[in-house]
Amino acid sequence: MRVTPHVHCLWLEFEIALPGGRRIPRFVTSYVIEGERLAVVDTSVAPAAPRILACIESLGRKAGDLAHVINTHCHFDHIGGNGVLAERAEPRFHAHPLDRPWIEDLGLQEKGRPVPGMRGICSGPVKVEGALEEGGEVDLGGGVRVQALHTPGHSPGSLSLFVPGDGALICGDVLPEPGTLPIYEDVHATLASLEKLRAVAGAEALLSAMSRKVWRGKEAGEHIDAGEGYVRRIDRLVRRAREEKGPGLTPEEAGRSAFAALGLPPEAMIGIVARTFAAHLAVEPLG
Ligand SMILES: [Zn+2]
Repeated sequence: MRVTPHVHCLWLEFEIALPGGRRIPRFVTSYVIEGERLAVVDTSVAPAAPRILACIESLGRKAGDLAHVINTHCHFDHIGGNGVLAERAEPRFHAHPLDRPWIEDLGLQEKGRPVPGMRGICSGPVKVEGALEEGGEVDLGGGVRVQALHTPGHSPGSLSLFVPGDGALICGDVLPEPGTLPIYEDVHATLASLEKLRAVAGAEALLSAMSRKVWRGKEAGEHIDAGEGYVRRIDRLVRRAREEKGPGLTPEEAGRSAFAALGLPPEAMIGIVARTFAAHLAVEPLG
């Protein structure tokens, strides 16, 4: 779906298989950005990646026109199609240097952030040649440029990407979506990154990988506010749980208590979500 003059958005479904056979349906978002050359932002998971190539063909372009792949961050569901695209084209892969090790070494990611079934849906790995940092830019020709903002919190090297000609602001997973699993590693970095997103001049369409909606105009700012509100609500729930259960409260216990208040299923309290609650317990209350 074309969401701004040069940006196409794909919402791609997949599942996380939990031990015991239960499956959590998830989706991830990929983008195709059209200039004289093409860029793909985030490659989803390997089984869904052919749909990115189908999107490119539906635009009357060839896989060979794909010059750049930008990973907003290293998580498997944003890089899992990297290998599939590398087999069909010769794109230059870009990411922030802080997230590069987990993109280039899937074993390292699996060890540091185990997610059930991750390896089965990850193609690659690939080599990241482009170190994209704050202020970095990828030029697609035809006046279409992609500018990088370093917006850590969800991961240390999370990037947001701004296409100035279109007013399109792609923020990857950095903006927590109220009512969904909260996944971030650093509470204060997340809040600072949200502040940075608010300050982007000319942003008219906010594209969050956590959301199935394109947030336009003043709705974009309101959605960032809602994400911040969710982080603050979770922090209050964590504090309340600690008051009730004492200082020995574990991240999992804090998470289960917060999940009950938020209406989230207790079995979704998996390791990557426990890290969020560990991050809250590691800092002073937000107030
Ligand atoms: Zn992520």
